[in-house]
Formats: sequence, C-alpha cells, structure tokens
Amino acid sequence: MSENVVIIGSGPAGWAAAIYTARANLTPLVYEGAITEENQTQGTLPLGQLNLTTEVENYPGFPAGNLCQYLDSAIETSLRSYMAPHLGHGVSGPELMELMRQQAKNFGTRIVTDDIVKVDFKARPFKLSTRDGKTVEAASVIVATGARANYLGLPSEDRFKNRGVSACAVCDGALPRFRNHAIVVIGGGDSAVEEATYLTKFGKVVYMVHRRDALRASKIMQERALSNPKIKMKWNSALEEVLGDDTNGVTGARLKNLKTGATENVECGGVFLAIGHTPNTAFLGGQLALTDKGYVKWTTPARTYTSVEGVFAAGDVADDYYRQAITAAGTGCMSALDAERWLAAQGTH
Ligand code: FAD
Ligand code: NAP
Repeated sequence: MSENVVIIGSGPAGWAAAIYTARANLTPLVYEGAITEENQTQGTLPLGQLNLTTEVENYPGFPAGNLCQYLDSAIETSLRSYMAPHLGHGVSGPELMELMRQQAKNFGTRIVTDDIVKVDFKARPFKLSTRDGKTVEAASVIVATGARANYLGLPSEDRFKNRGVSACAVCDGALPRFRNHAIVVIGGGDSAVEEATYLTKFGKVVYMVHRRDALRASKIMQERALSNPKIKMKWNSALEEVLGDDTNGVTGARLKNLKTGATENVECGGVFLAIGHTPNTAFLGGQLALTDKGYVKWTTPARTYTSVEGVFAAGDVADDYYRQAITAAGTGCMSALDAERWLAAQGTH
C-alpha cells in the first residue's frame, strides 16, 4: 500500500507538516530519524537542532514564565520525565519539540524512529528505504531533514571528538571534564554566543574565538556575549590545533591571530565548534536539484516545490538564509498545503 504523504525529518518543519497533513486527513507517516551513535555524534538525533539547545526565547506563543503545569498536562508522562527541568525563562528547545511531536500525534500522525537512507524519486509511487532495511511507498514526500553542525576538519579535532571536542554545549557542557576549566568556543554567530553563554555555567572562563573582529550574531545575543565577564573575545583568530593527550583528552588549543600570524597556546579543557551547519541531503543521492551551497532547491518562488513533482522540501534543508524554528515551521506548513493541493490535483485524495 502506498502512503499519501511521507515526511522525512522531525524538527519544527517536519512536525508542522505533520500537523497540517494530519488535519487534512492525509494520515501522514513521519520518519523522525534513528537513535544511533552516528546520529548522536553528528547531532542528527530525532527532534532536530532545537533539541540540542536550552531556552528558546523567540518562538511566538512561549513567553517567559512557568510553563510547568501546561507541559505536565500536554506531554505524555513517560516522555516528560526525560526532559530537562523547566527553568522559567521561556520554553526550552526539548520542551518545544516534544510539544510539537505530541501535537502531530494527537491528530493521528504515525511516527517511525528510523532514518530514510535512500530514495527512488524516478517513478511514482516514490520508494524510500529505511536504515533497518524496510521500504515504504509514497504518493508524495516532504523532505524536512534540517541541518547538522560543521567541524573545521582538523585531524586533532577528530582525534579528540567526545574527549573534549564537541559541537553541542547543551549535550556535553555539564560533563566533569569542563568544570572549572577554561573552555574555547569557535564561531561568531548566534550558536557560538549561545554555546559560550551556556558554558559560563561550568567553565572558569570561556574564550570565544572568531575569525573576524565583529560578531555575526543578532544584536541582543552580541550584547549578551560582550557584557558577560566570563566570556573573553579572541578576535581575528582561528583554531590551528587542538592540544591534548590520550590520557587527558583536550588540554589546550593553539590559536592563530589571522592579522599578525602570531600563535598562542591556551590551556583549556574543551573546544566547542559553533561554525554553522550543513544541510542533511546525502540520503537523496542526487535525485533532487540542490543549490550551489548544497541546500534543496525550491524551484518556484513562494512554494516548497522541488525539482521532482510530488516531492516538497521544508525548513533548514532548503533554507540557507532564515534558519529559524519559526520559519522552518512556516515552510513546513506550506509544504503540507502544497502536498495536499498537489495530491488533490492528481485525483489521489
Ligand atoms: P532540524 O531541526 O535540523 O531537524 C531535522 C531532523 O530530521 C534531524 O535532526 C533528524 O532528527 C531528522 N533527520 C535528518 N535526516 C534524516 C533522515 N535521513 N531520515 C529521517 N530523519 C532525518 N532557532 C530559533 O528560532 N530560535 C532559537 O533559539 C534557536 N536556537 C538554536 C540553537 C542551536 C544550538 C542551533 C543549532 C539552532 C538554533 N536555532 C534556533 C535554529 C533552529 O533550531 C533551526 O532553524 C530549526 O531547528 C530547523 O528546523 P528543521 O525542521 O528544518 O530541521
Ligand atoms: P551562522 O550564523 O552561519 O554562523 C556561523 C559562524 O561561524 C560565523 O560567525 C562564521 O564566521 C563562523 N564560521 C563559519 N565557518 C568557519 C570556519 N571555517 N572557520 C571559522 N569560523 C567559521 O551559524 P549559527 O550560529 O549556527 O546559526 C545558524 C542559524 O540558526 C542562524 O540563522 C541563527 O540565527 C539561528 N540561531 C538562532 C539562535 C537564537 O535566535 N537564539 C541561536 C542559535 C542559532 P563569519 O561571521 O566570519 O562568517
């Protein structure tokens, strides 16, 4: 039997698409990703990028305040107990994502905790293969696989991954190895500021190493970093090598001043990379047209159409510009409406 619509991905885009297609009686099937070591390492576990962060202060509808009672009533008790405690500043990323998932489930969305590893978009119905060897057929597909953290590609970075090198402060920051040590954060965007700010809870000082002399982060985030006494800026600087040994993992970082060429060794217990993201498109095997930056190409202005009719794309996998939870949810909604209308035009629904 062929599914009406299969949604691949479980960030805000995927759940918004699921909520809308479920309410259109399309009985969507969501592949939310697999729980594997590989996905853990590259930050592509189910629930997407927001599941790796703390407070989300800019998603409309979730002002600061105590949301505990609401969360207790809205989310299944078994899942609630896994979630980080609510701090009261706003909704946390994991809370927001569980709420979206639950909302999609409430309207009858079926969820499979597995990755789609291969697609065949050459003939309809489309065929999708899962990591555990199953195949599913679909009349339409929504690709909402988001993006994953970048690394610099240094051999020393690879050597110390999970032993002091990380791309997720929320996942790893509280580990004993970082407590009361200096910590280095690489990058100058919102993620870098957020990681650095969060890490000040654990480290004695956080060095933000940025390749230019101005942050890319939004103004409010910039102010947060620049006014935090525990964050020290290393402007015009790059990470040249992660220093350490097999017994202790990371013990320092060699930084290079890009203006003067001078290098300095900074003692630290960890290095966090926050240098942007790469869209998750490898599983598409080149069957959808991509932009020159590797994002799925939207082929028609203000639509979520891709180069294959009946396949739609939503969220960060197709957006190298806005990359916000709200815009991902917005294009997720658009992709659901586009899929519904396309299926209706085909006479399949
Ligand atoms: P993602 O959230 O990337 O989710 C996609 C998910 O799909 C993956 O994680 C994975 O589970 C699944 N997947 C991937 N490949 C496959 C596959 N082959 N098969 C099945 N499943 C797959 N935005 C804000 O608006 N406010 C914030 O405060 C904010 N904070 C952020 C903090 C951090 C640290 C980061 C990294 C980002 C933050 N963002 C924030 C940006 C926001 O998280 C993203 O814009 C948003 O999550 C994108 O949603 P998405 O649905 O496109 O994809
Ligand atoms: P980003 O905005 O692309 O910033 C990446 C940063 O890393 C930039 O400062 C960039 O430097 C630097 N960088 C990139 N490649 C590098 C390299 N090879 N070596 C050294 N530095 C490098 O990515 P992001 O911070 O992950 O944010 C992604 C999206 O999520 C953004 O749209 C952001 O607004 C959103 N987000 C929002 C929040 C929030 O609202 N609270 C939090 C996190 C993320 P240059 O500046 O020189 O290019």
